[in-house]
Amino acid sequence: MIPKSHPRYESLMTRELIVEGVRKGITSTQGLIAQGRGEAFDYLIGEKTTESALHAEKVAAAKLLLERKPVISVNGNAAALVGSELIRLSELVNAPLEVNLFHRTEERVNKIMGHLRSLGAKNLVTKNDALIPGLEHDRAKVGSSGIFVADVVLVPLEDGDRCKALVDMGKTVIAIDLNPLSRTAQCATITIVDNIIRAIPNISKFAEELKELEQEELLEIIWEYDNKETLSFAIEEINKNLVEYLPPQSRL
Ligand code: ATP
Ligand code: MG
Repeated sequence: MIPKSHPRYESLMTRELIVEGVRKGITSTQGLIAQGRGEAFDYLIGEKTTESALHAEKVAAAKLLLERKPVISVNGNAAALVGSELIRLSELVNAPLEVNLFHRTEERVNKIMGHLRSLGAKNLVTKNDALIPGLEHDRAKVGSSGIFVADVVLVPLEDGDRCKALVDMGKTVIAIDLNPLSRTAQCATITIVDNIIRAIPNISKFAEELKELEQEELLEIIWEYDNKETLSFAIEEINKNLVEYLPPQSRL
């Protein structure tokens, strides 16, 4: 048991959820490594949602509400960490959930779908019967009624190659990735440099707020968005946090 008073309680609980995901066969063992890399970057950005990430989350909500065919991709880490929160977002923006795995096995796909159903998910893409062009077979599998025809895809923790392949298909890709330097972060259309456990509830909160807006008003929110700027802010934030750790005399 981790005591609530532990200064890094949230981070440690997140770790427990991922370990539990591996135990249940939902999360891959490689998912543990991805989580560790994410934690390192979360430390560097201060384990909080930065202002620029919050802005990207608002733009993401507007885009998901605006487009006709939004889809939310779910991998083993996302299912273990924010299964219920993803279902809530899926309902708010009317986007189906599609299980999409990098380390794909049919067994794990079925386990994740079962997990999501047990949490109350109804809007699921169940058939992965199409292929993303330019990727080798298993990694390319997507639903012909889901990601394959989506105009916007939310991909929490996507691989760089697949992110690029989706962008090459002409889709708007919203990525959640704590590493602003990863290929995914660099190639996505909208990059949310935040922990998935903070990002999904934030996007949902914005979706609720923006739901009643006219199309024109949603467009205005998206219009001025600049992803290069978001990435620069994230890197600057890391830089600023690192400098604060230096003794004053050694600061440049
Ligand atoms: P890329 O393939 O994009 O160059 P990578 O190979 O480092 O990057 P993957 O292992 O494919 O990345 O995906 C994991 C990514 O997800 C990492 O960049 C990691 O920082 C990020 N990540 C892991 N856990 C979380 C989390 N809880 N919230 C947000 N991002 C996370
Ligand atoms: Mg990768």
